[in-house]
Amino acid sequence: MILVALTGGIGSGKSTVSALLAARGAVIVDADGIVRELQQAGAPLLARLAERFGAGIIRSDGELDRPALAAIAFNDDAALEDLNGIVHPTVRAEIARRIDAEADTDRVVVMDTPLMTVDPGRPLAAVIVVDVPVEVAVERLVAFRGMSEDDARARIAKQDTREERLARADKVIDNSGDLAHLGSQVEDLWAWVLTLPSAPANP
Ligand code: ADP
Repeated sequence: MILVALTGGIGSGKSTVSALLAARGAVIVDADGIVRELQQAGAPLLARLAERFGAGIIRSDGELDRPALAAIAFNDDAALEDLNGIVHPTVRAEIARRIDAEADTDRVVVMDTPLMTVDPGRPLAAVIVVDVPVEVAVERLVAFRGMSEDDARARIAKQDTREERLARADKVIDNSGDLAHLGSQVEDLWAWVLTLPSAPANP
């Protein structure tokens, strides 16, 4: 297994790159998708959240009431710390479990995550950053994802800065051009990734 991390700010094109890598055969471990799965109706994590934040964070259909939880957690530092303390270890463990499941294969595994702080439990061969100027990200989020400009800017402001991400990058994908330019960079990226050292197999 060759293990790499893929990150980028919202609107950078990270999901687009992830899909292009999947099309080439990469196994994608999608942190955001795992968070959503672990918070589905009936999941043990939901019960733990309700225990801490009250039954009001679960809707009548059993699904997480995200706005209700956000209203509690984002107005109270202690609550946010508790929320992260409940969610992060569970998500991290699931990410590690999915990576472990591929460790004895010869596949490329891409840990797709908006946060640079997720520890996959094994050494990463490289950190790949999808990069665009903030103005380009805002423009695309408004044009293609139906966000208001204020919402797009607020979400970007909550994430790591462009500079913080770039400081950690072993490889930068510049997505300020068109999709054809992105595609040709991903083609080069794939060839480069295949030259990287493998992660240790399972003991
Ligand atoms: P992220 O996962 O980083 O939030 P996405 O991959 O969803 O970003 O990209 C944001 C939006 O911009 C999507 O609608 C995507 O189709 C579009 N997009 C991505 N790259 C380009 C590009 N180079 N040119 C035009 N549109 C793009």
